[in-house]
Amino acid sequence: MPASLPFPCRVCAGESGERQSGAWHCDRCGWRLGDAPDADLPRPRIDVVYYLRYRDRVKIGTSATPRRRLAAIMHDELLAFEPGDRRVEHERHVEFADLREGGEWFTLTGALAAHVDAVRARVGEPWAAYDRWLGDAYRRLSS
Ligand SMILES: [Zn+2]
Repeated sequence: MPASLPFPCRVCAGESGERQSGAWHCDRCGWRLGDAPDADLPRPRIDVVYYLRYRDRVKIGTSATPRRRLAAIMHDELLAFEPGDRRVEHERHVEFADLREGGEWFTLTGALAAHVDAVRARVGEPWAAYDRWLGDAYRRLSS
């Protein structure tokens, strides 16, 4: 049963979780509460391809610092994150080239709309997914 954590998760600031074998685990990222990410570890780099909707258009871009990046782009809604860097971003730009309006903006319709739906179905809510990937990367770094 998810419950309120005694203090926010140090990886993702999540506030709910479950108690398993005597320790709290964050719901959002799976990190064990109270295990601080080692201060000597660099913050893991998580590259994401983002799908950002503004009206009937979507921007397909990539960032390793999506919170900062998205705050700088006018948009109505973050539709999805897909794990990937410049290479995946480029593949998508080629794949949906016939829907390109200019720069990294594409018309949100047809094959692109179906792709965004499929990514969302596979990956889930984008920020929850990002926090999961961050928790996984911290666990890999510290093991
Ligand atoms: Zn967490």
